[in-house]
Amino acid sequence: MSTLAFRPSRHSTRPVKVSFEFFPPKTAEMEASLWGAIERLAPLRPNFVSVTYGAGGSTRERTHNTVARIVQDTSLRPAAHLTCVAATRDEVDEVVGAYWAAGVRHIVALRGDPAGGLGSAYAAHPGGYEQTCDLVAGIRRIGDFEVSVSAYPEKHPEAPSLDADIDALKAKVDCGATRAITQFFFDNDHYLRYLDRVRARGIDIPIVPGILPVQNFKQAAKFAASTGATVPDWLAARFEGLDHDLETRRLIAAAVAAEQVLDLVDRGVNEFHFYTMNRADLVFAICHLLGLRAQPASEPARAAA
Ligand code: FAD
Repeated sequence: MSTLAFRPSRHSTRPVKVSFEFFPPKTAEMEASLWGAIERLAPLRPNFVSVTYGAGGSTRERTHNTVARIVQDTSLRPAAHLTCVAATRDEVDEVVGAYWAAGVRHIVALRGDPAGGLGSAYAAHPGGYEQTCDLVAGIRRIGDFEVSVSAYPEKHPEAPSLDADIDALKAKVDCGATRAITQFFFDNDHYLRYLDRVRARGIDIPIVPGILPVQNFKQAAKFAASTGATVPDWLAARFEGLDHDLETRRLIAAAVAAEQVLDLVDRGVNEFHFYTMNRADLVFAICHLLGLRAQPASEPARAAA
């Protein structure tokens, strides 16, 4: 096995940085598959790995336990997702304090979806953080965390316009956000045009593209419809007629994702956040194409201390 972390390629002569997003498992079987994915991807030495927080705060314990195990058992740097929903400021602050005490130094701060589900009006919890920018400021008051926030190249579905959404991103940055991770998109022009507008608005933090490798087209299209991400006709055409042909679907999925990230590299992007859906194979292959090579595991932070 190579001991080099990065191999310059036809597409990328600059080192590429990656991060991986996981969701907390519900069952023992899902737990085993999550840890299988983490073990497979960890030797690629991601910049960080993040763990989502369920809608309505439903995974509070499971998110915390997953993040705590990453700190204890691996040398990875975890980022814990946290939302404003279904909790008072004191409750949220307590969670943030517990993360700090557990050695977590990175939080992905989000508002969260309305309690009535997407499409209904959002109402802040009485006594809770009103908007993401308030949560970001609250987190930064508690500790010197790295704070990532969301960004929407095709605009958040609730925002009246893309400019209004970019103003909301600016507010999050002014409150202390240090990085934005985008909603997934399939047309790279959406991301690059958005980046131009964000920079023109005076926002200079990294805006890391969120990449969703399409493991299951129907599911991805449904998910995209709820987040406001458009699904180009050419993408649908690529998966056409393959509903009962898993093997070809997997090959097409790898080709589509490779094409997307390599095009972004050609256009100057060198940092990626992968929505792994707790599955490693496709993401591992894409990272390999990006020039990343597995490194021997180092000791967990706890053992090294
Ligand atoms: P925000 O940036 O807070 O924006 C929400 C809406 O309010 C937008 O329309 C925006 O324009 C507007 N707005 C924001 N700030 C202001 C302001 N100061 N004044 C006026 N309007 C404002 N959801 C989960 O439940 N758990 C997760 O773990 C999770 N992880 C995610 C990770 C990423 C990278 C992304 C892109 C999304 C994630 N989500 C998650 C989804 C997210 O919670 C929803 O999209 C939610 O509807 C909005 O939260 P937000 O922080 O993304 O949006």
